Amino acid sequence: MGDNVKIVPASCTQCGGTVEVDPQSEKGVCPFCGTSFIIEKAINNYNVQHATIEHADNVNIDMTGSVKSVLDFVGDQMKESRAERREYKKIQAEKDRQMTSLFFKMMGIMFAGVFAFGIIGFIYYQITGGGDDTNAPVSSETAGEVISPELDEPVVSDGVTRAGEDSIEVYFEWDEISGADGYQVYEDYKYYEEEEYREPEYYETTETAFVAGAQDYFDFRISVRAYKGQGESRVYSEWSDFAQGSTY
Ligand SMILES: [Zn+2]
Repeated sequence: MGDNVKIVPASCTQCGGTVEVDPQSEKGVCPFCGTSFIIEKAINNYNVQHATIEHADNVNIDMTGSVKSVLDFVGDQMKESRAERREYKKIQAEKDRQMTSLFFKMMGIMFAGVFAFGIIGFIYYQITGGGDDTNAPVSSETAGEVISPELDEPVVSDGVTRAGEDSIEVYFEWDEISGADGYQVYEDYKYYEEEEYREPEYYETTETAFVAGAQDYFDFRISVRAYKGQGESRVYSEWSDFAQGSTY
């Protein structure tokens, strides 16, 4: 070997032992196992063994033919990891798609639920006549009346049937409303076989009770509201829910 001969490390293609070779030569013989090998392959062998994927980004491109296989190796590793990333992205995209699909399904179910609930509520409202206001009478003198939030709506107990002097009485009562000067009572009634209540009558009282009565089988219902003041300045509470009673 002359001074101008460059010696490089190589790995024996048979036993893997590290040997120093002249890259200009075609063949060498391993001092460990005695196998003759092609020098280019042994150099490639060495370079592949000493290249690590961690440093792939920093591999110096010392472009000699012998390094090419190292770069191919590294390139393959990177392609592989790119393929892995592509696969991972595909899986993620599929997961995202499934989550989105699930989300819209859930929203659909919720929407359908709310919609169904709304329909049922609406039907119920229609059947029951809709809320407290229509469950209580509307006064014939509604126009110009002032409803005061200061006056609570009375809560009237269902009528208690009791014997009167010359009739059977139905006794209704309610708790006193704070600030009230008195109460208006709406009363209507029907013979027990009748479907519809007859024309209502209105009464005023300063008591917190009302007595209906009849000598035959009658159903009564009353609604009560509190009032305060007289004439133009009178204000009312809302009408109470109906309280029911009967003479039989
Ligand atoms: Zn060897």
